[in-house]
Amino acid sequence: EITAAYQWSDFKLNSDGMIPVIVQDYKTDAVLMQAYMNEEAYLATIHTGKMTYYSRSRQELWIKGETSGHYQYVKSLHADCDMDTILARVVQIGAACHTGSYSCFFNEILTLDDTADTQHNPLKVFEDVFAVIKDRKENPKEGSYTNYLFDKGIDKILKKLGEEATEIVIAAKNPNPNEIKYEICDFLYHMMVLMAEKDVTWEEITAELANR
Ligand code: AMP
Ligand code: ZN
Ligand code: ZN
Ligand code: ZN
Repeated sequence: EITAAYQWSDFKLNSDGMIPVIVQDYKTDAVLMQAYMNEEAYLATIHTGKMTYYSRSRQELWIKGETSGHYQYVKSLHADCDMDTILARVVQIGAACHTGSYSCFFNEILTLDDTADTQHNPLKVFEDVFAVIKDRKENPKEGSYTNYLFDKGIDKILKKLGEEATEIVIAAKNPNPNEIKYEICDFLYHMMVLMAEKDVTWEEITAELANR
């Protein structure tokens, strides 16, 4: 039996008698979605370890993942300073969003300056580039080199990848120190095209690396 540090009566509820929950991937820190809990959902979440909400549209208790299989397993729950919002850190199975997107927050409204963000996490560049490549696959764009590669097929992608690997080897012997950087970038780009073609995700790659 799990005992939580706060009771339902400790929360400051909204006018519907519910509390908004912000859901974060405990591994990547990505913000996944926002939903509401009523008391029954809160207790169910604590007792089952599976994120359970109250669906305002369906007006019923909603065990996230019950129909999609995209469950969210609780890693931690925190209430904010004034007890009116819950932050849930979870193990996300599959996509958090019913559209199939990993995160619900894909409708970009405004970005003022993300250079600091990128510097903070250089690996984000890989995710960003990979996201563009996958988007090209889903929504082909006129004149796109990435779409040219997808259209030509796997053999063309593999041929390019092999060529770029060889070019890294040649560049490593080149006295110009920038050459190797260019060739590594060319290689990584073509490798990500291959990943998209073969439906391999960065998460699968980093999970495998972390386990070695
Ligand atoms: P699931 O809980 O993933 O099995 O999804 C069941 C239903 O809940 C879906 O058909 C959607 O209507 C809704 N739903 C699932 N995930 C979300 C979400 N992140 N935001 C809003 N609605 C969702
Ligand atoms: Zn505060
Ligand atoms: Zn608050
Ligand atoms: Zn969504």
